[in-house]
Amino acid sequence: MGQMALIVTNPATEETIAELEPAGVEETDAAVARAKAAFEEWRAVAPTDRGRLLRRLATLVEENAGELARIESQNVGKPIAGARAEVAMVAQVFHFYAGAVDKHYGQTIPVAGGVDMTFREPLGVVGLIVPWNFPLNISSWKLGPALACGNTVVLKPAELTPLSALRLAELILEAGIPEGVVNVVVGPGRVVGQRLVEHPDVAKIGFTGSTEVGRGVMQGAAETIKRVTLELGGKSANVVFADADLEKAAAAAPYAVFDNAGQDCCARSRILVERSAYDRFADLLVEATRNVKVGDPADESTEMGPLISAQHRETVASFVDGEPLFRGDTPNGRGYWYPCTLVEASNQDRVAREEVFGPVAALIPFADEEEAVEIANDTPYGLSGSIWTENGARALRVARALDTGVLSINSNSSVRPSTPFGGFKQSGFGRELGMHALDGYSEIKNVYLATG
Ligand code: NAD
Repeated sequence: MGQMALIVTNPATEETIAELEPAGVEETDAAVARAKAAFEEWRAVAPTDRGRLLRRLATLVEENAGELARIESQNVGKPIAGARAEVAMVAQVFHFYAGAVDKHYGQTIPVAGGVDMTFREPLGVVGLIVPWNFPLNISSWKLGPALACGNTVVLKPAELTPLSALRLAELILEAGIPEGVVNVVVGPGRVVGQRLVEHPDVAKIGFTGSTEVGRGVMQGAAETIKRVTLELGGKSANVVFADADLEKAAAAAPYAVFDNAGQDCCARSRILVERSAYDRFADLLVEATRNVKVGDPADESTEMGPLISAQHRETVASFVDGEPLFRGDTPNGRGYWYPCTLVEASNQDRVAREEVFGPVAALIPFADEEEAVEIANDTPYGLSGSIWTENGARALRVARALDTGVLSINSNSSVRPSTPFGGFKQSGFGRELGMHALDGYSEIKNVYLATG
């Protein structure tokens, strides 16, 4: 092929941890052909057997959790405790879809002269394109429903973080899922990813990544009228009202934006605070942020590791000019470290408008409920967000008014295996997780049987 080797690095040490031969168009086409050849056999597997195979995969993920967490921690720079929790979720996701296979029902619809019924048919070969921030987790969110519905798969991990997907591919075979059902192809997005988007034998692209690349995926998919699910960027608001439990809200806020070093599409990177509680909350938030433990990802007590790359660190740094409200510490020496940073901003500042994808949070004051909703919605994104208040009616009023796909009240947690996850506006469309994801990996067929 004559392509340069793909160097995989540990972002905490800058050491090379793997060198891989990147795939090109030819290898991508071969993977699509393998997936196509495996499709008829896989769709014909009895639902309970398909469920049993997914259950076995979930169990293998549990049995190999330590190794998978180590791989993810070293490749992404994630704290090991967090990586373990992510791998536990991967197993839960496969357990969920193991149980969902035979519960994704069609309907019978009353009509004249006969019986009308619907079937959920698999799409065929689906291309799954995954980013580097949660490589194994996001792969499982797509693989679970895709396989449960009877599709076969070509999975393209991000170039920077392919190692956990390669190990998962081995476990998939060990679980007894037939050869060809899941094919992992490691290579550049604009080569392998783009080929999947254009390939006439790929029926759907499940994409998670930036809004910019997602826009190109949607354009490319138009040529063959491919189905697409797009999980894109975010600029979520953490809305704190003066009547909230301020201590609790402030203690939780750092982890809603500095978790995964801020490289999280759900990061609540705009912290909106009611003006009458602003000074008190800002003090509490600075204290809580000071306590975030930044350091060696292999250390059990570490809460935040480095950024993914030197280039990404430069981008993150470009969002902070002048002296911030707070800047934390980082280890010295090698590794792509960036400190937890709090800045005071207006919603028109670049730091409040663009996705930073790093540990930088913007504090923004608001006057009242109406202005809180206005500021929270004043963004092209609409992925996630939080509302902190002790007033239940206000919590629900604001939740209904926010143009965002995933909200939490008096909490910052967005993601569960059984509940739908996805964005409004330029954060994308389609839903992952829960029973809703199955709709994105199947087609409804309507059949009418004349009984007269
Ligand atoms: P990215 O868009 O650069 O890359 C995502 C994937 O797309 C990678 O596998 C990449 O190789 C591939 N790709 C690149 N160019 C392509 C092309 N032309 N055609 C097809 N595929 C191509 O994103 P990233 O930097 O890896 O991840 C960060 C972004 O992902 C952030 O914007 C973040 O918000 C978003 N994200 C969203 C969610 C969500 O669920 N909404 C979750 C995690 C991350």
